[in-house]
Amino acid sequence: MLVLDLDQTLVSVADHDEETLLRCVTKRPGLDRFLKDMSQVYEIVIFSASGASYVKKIVSSLDPTGEIFSAVFTGSDTDWLSGQRVKDLRKLNRDKIVWIDDNASLYPYNPKNGIQVPPFHGDPNDSILGALTPLLLEVALGQISVENASELFVRARNK
Ligand SMILES: [Mg+2]
Repeated sequence: MLVLDLDQTLVSVADHDEETLLRCVTKRPGLDRFLKDMSQVYEIVIFSASGASYVKKIVSSLDPTGEIFSAVFTGSDTDWLSGQRVKDLRKLNRDKIVWIDDNASLYPYNPKNGIQVPPFHGDPNDSILGALTPLLLEVALGQISVENASELFVRARNK
């Protein structure tokens, strides 16, 4: 299962009100391709700490036919640990979980199951999703572990 954060991971959202929300969403470059490729090999869920109506609106614009995401978790699905909001993936009941998020501190229960990505703020030259794709495919095929993928990702970025 691939667990994807929304804000600053898949999209960047500018100031908006309820009416203008969808016009203020910038997709991370390569997002549609990334989701399509990942949906071939992973069960994909969104886990955002934001409010349900905000998240669900954006998610249905990213996946209008409902073919990509098998579930959507939002703020009310997060837990509190030492005064901090966290995402506890143990309750998703899957042996193999990979999270992708711009904030690794949200996963104290599953720290090694993911890849922290740099936050996306709308840069049109951002190439993170393209860099993740081959690594996540190898993880899906069991060729490398999530930890290996995370190390390779960090190393490639520091080159
Ligand atoms: Mg985020």
